[in-house]
Amino acid sequence: METGLTVEEGRDRILALSEAKGTEYVETEFANGRILSEDIYAQENIPPFDRSPLDGYALRARDIKGASGETPVTLKVIEEVPAGSVPTKEVTEMAAVKILTGAPIPKGADLVVKYEETEFTETEVTFFKPGKSGGNIVPAGEDIRAGQLVLSKGERITPAVCGIIAGLGRPKVQVYQKPVVAFLSTGSELISVGEPLSPGKIRNSSVYTLKSYLEDVGAETILLGNVVDDPEEISEKIRSSVDGADMIVTTGGVSVGDYDFLIRVMEQIGAEILFWKEKLKPGGAFLASVYKGKPVISLSGNPSAAAVAMILNVVPAVRKMCGNREFLLKEATAKLAEDYTKSSPNMRIVPGKLEIREGQAVAVLSGHSGNGMLHPLHGCNILGRIEAGSKGMKKGNSISVYYI
Ligand code: AMP
Ligand code: MG
Repeated sequence: METGLTVEEGRDRILALSEAKGTEYVETEFANGRILSEDIYAQENIPPFDRSPLDGYALRARDIKGASGETPVTLKVIEEVPAGSVPTKEVTEMAAVKILTGAPIPKGADLVVKYEETEFTETEVTFFKPGKSGGNIVPAGEDIRAGQLVLSKGERITPAVCGIIAGLGRPKVQVYQKPVVAFLSTGSELISVGEPLSPGKIRNSSVYTLKSYLEDVGAETILLGNVVDDPEEISEKIRSSVDGADMIVTTGGVSVGDYDFLIRVMEQIGAEILFWKEKLKPGGAFLASVYKGKPVISLSGNPSAAAVAMILNVVPAVRKMCGNREFLLKEATAKLAEDYTKSSPNMRIVPGKLEIREGQAVAVLSGHSGNGMLHPLHGCNILGRIEAGSKGMKKGNSISVYYI
């Protein structure tokens, strides 16, 4: 069995098994967070016509060329155009049209002057300074031009993208189907969240963190529940759920103790073992296999260890299965906000926060780092990466961080 891979090697093996599913249409109203599976070209200009960005008067710039405080110029108001209406008259010499924000610019006008810079009555408007031709006119297509490629396949639909799709007149949009990830929690000590604690038992907490990370990147998740450390029960669950899932994630039982059955179970059901263990702390002790063509990732039961291994190895794969073309975690370098004294024979991941201190972006690593703890990831937006062989690092030293 292959073992001791680097995180990049392990991640790439899992990525190689992960493909986007088919496509489907969703209503634009419910498209936020989905991944586009079509290129979207603009069929029309946005805005569709030249329009006024403010309330004021549309006129010909040349008519007020000589306007000043001493020599104001008064024009005749020939019409009013509120938003949603269209002008019926052309602006001719010494005429102006009262125009409201969002209304189309009348023919003949090449300038809009805002109310506040004029004096006006129902029938006349006076200007006290000249204005440039084209001033305060938003040209058709300023935002998006007809024919332009606006959004492309593999792009995540964000709040901004939702509005663009709607602006292009698309009530529905084609997206990739969500991959379904099924979670199985193994461990005879586990009880469900709603059950009272009894001696020797703990609540199955880690699955809530793990599933939520994958939902955040676009997966649909199923909880298969808890099973005791029994090879028959574990294999039965995996066999019976594989057809309904695109990926299975298990927790617990992946080490070398007497009750760690995952490797044996996967071999018995005829899964292909991809590898066991990465050079990574925490979380390196996990198993990656393929069963009936589906990736099965068996993580440690320790909540932080499982989360770290999953973020580094499974999140990119799930993003890829979602059709997201930006599936790798974003990496950056950041300076340490404090000394980090632990030495790290293997690559070590420490959750933390990217914060601004004294005008500099710095990595504040979490002081809590127990593998079995739930809270080291609380409030974190990065995983700091301490390279193998480090004997400790000083405040101000640079480290790589994964943005999560
Ligand atoms: P294991 O990976 O089975 O060796 O478990 C490692 C540690 O994680 C043990 O202390 C378990 O009790 C604990 N653990 C296992 N599964 C979970 C879970 N779903 N939620 C929280 N802790 C767990
Ligand atoms: Mg166990």
